[in-house]
Amino acid sequence: MNSVLTTYVIGLLSVMVMSAEEEFKMTILHNNDMHARFEQTTESKHGRYVGGFGRVATIVKQARAEAASRNGSAPVLYLNAGDTYTGTIWFSVHRWKIAARFLNALKPDVTCLGNHEFDDGISGLDPFVTAADFPIVAANIDFRNETVLAANVKPHVVLNVEGRKVGIIGYLTPETELMATIGNIRIQDEVTAIRRECERLKKEGVNIIIALGHSGFKTDRRIAEEVKDVDLVIGGHTNSFLWNGPPPDKEKPEDTYPSRVVQKNGKIVPVVQAYAYTKYMGKLDVVFDKEGTLVRFQGQPILLDEKIAQDGEMLALLEEFRPAVDKYNKQVVGRTRTYLNGETCRLRECNFGNVLVDSFVDYVTTMYKAEGSYWTSAPIAIVNGGAIRMSINASIPPANGNITAGDILGAVPFRQQLVTVDMLGKDLLATLELGARSDGETSRGEFLQVSGLKVVYDFSRPPGGRVVSAKARCGRCYVPTYSPVAPDVSYRLVTTGFLLNGGDGHTVVRDRAIKVNLEDQDDSEALRRYFQFYRVLTPQEEERIVVYNHPLLPPEEEYAPASAIRIERSVGLNVILTLLLIMYQTINISK
Ligand SMILES: [Zn+2]
Repeated sequence: MNSVLTTYVIGLLSVMVMSAEEEFKMTILHNNDMHARFEQTTESKHGRYVGGFGRVATIVKQARAEAASRNGSAPVLYLNAGDTYTGTIWFSVHRWKIAARFLNALKPDVTCLGNHEFDDGISGLDPFVTAADFPIVAANIDFRNETVLAANVKPHVVLNVEGRKVGIIGYLTPETELMATIGNIRIQDEVTAIRRECERLKKEGVNIIIALGHSGFKTDRRIAEEVKDVDLVIGGHTNSFLWNGPPPDKEKPEDTYPSRVVQKNGKIVPVVQAYAYTKYMGKLDVVFDKEGTLVRFQGQPILLDEKIAQDGEMLALLEEFRPAVDKYNKQVVGRTRTYLNGETCRLRECNFGNVLVDSFVDYVTTMYKAEGSYWTSAPIAIVNGGAIRMSINASIPPANGNITAGDILGAVPFRQQLVTVDMLGKDLLATLELGARSDGETSRGEFLQVSGLKVVYDFSRPPGGRVVSAKARCGRCYVPTYSPVAPDVSYRLVTTGFLLNGGDGHTVVRDRAIKVNLEDQDDSEALRRYFQFYRVLTPQEEERIVVYNHPLLPPEEEYAPASAIRIERSVGLNVILTLLLIMYQTINISK
């Protein structure tokens, strides 16, 4: 009896040992859309410090040290899914140099390109890829005519992880062509390119394949569904927040972590992103069998809040770059009594958007006021929400309400030239629709912040039909008032060169707007001038934009329009039912 049991236990153990030997485990750390958060920020629920490369480095270093010290513990890969460029004064001042230095210090195993890596054109990307000590991948870009990129960005890389080959294939959204100046490169469909690379990798005997790219959550999931040899998709671009259970800060989860896609043959492919701005680090544990089949996975992102120490090497590196940044940060241009919220400008009205577009109208108005006795020739302004890259929290010490040139240049970093245009009402309405078209396939940067417009959207309607109503402010009038946008009336408005070039997919502005004047001012300068002129501002939300039924607006927001509409509808329904009841009773009585 005893010996039988012993034999059984030994047998069981040997099976366990054998299967454990054949199993291949990895811990994958990943993040995306870091957007120049080299320094920690206060982009959190209670203005607590979060993120920064110092905290990212702490997580990466700790995980690598643990993997190295404990025999048999899973190896660690740190993968980054692009958009390190653009978003703070640190990048506005130091451009590609600071991105390259910090990423080199972070030592990612592999990164891919984000659309924002093209923000300074090819000439702003070439020195970055040349300086990078780490592999950069993109399979769906034709670099033939850009030799520096062709030499430094590869379709895939194969890593040797403890004797196992792991193939990593890159991708980038073709929409980059709409968002940036991309020189002579051409960007193809992601799925076609990744399938081609999978075939090449399989021929090389690689049976663990990770897609790492920057095309947004919907495309990430499409890749997981349509490319049968991909085992795992690590994405970016849509700042998608995936989380299991109650969320730890103000981000609302779009799905579980990881998101799961089931292929036709039943294979489950996990899809991950880790929000943005270095606020979270994605952490996924994966187990593969001998054939390279993913047999188990589980994970949860880590919130990089004050509980995570900041790595000293990164903090020291920051000091090297600080003097030039400080020059801007010490130059006070005005004061605000309110927090300038730049975090929700892609979803709904944000007070930062309001003050920015108001500054456009104010600039053109003060420049051309002498034209007539009316108050302005251009009473309307629009800007894409993606033009605003961060909030300005001037209410905390040491700012004490002061806004600096550095704050403004960091938060509105693209230096887009202002342009005054004429548009027919129907084209203006079509432009508002384009801004509200996304169901998650874009990063929603195209959503428009407005001055001199009052717009109501209903996101339960299909794209192209979401504008419920739109009113425009008069300019050639003594007292500005609003009236419904008329399809065949021409409206004069101020926007940016970005939209006039069709940026973020705004093809109607590009194709239909008639250029009146290129202004001698860019967006961040207009805002700086506005603060300098008025000294103290109190930007607020004022129902310029009302949004109903948006899937990403958290329920605690004061907008509870879904229920409001339902109440209206159910009130209507109740009235009808009551009338029917009265009619029925009347008929019955009259019988
Ligand atoms: Zn992006």
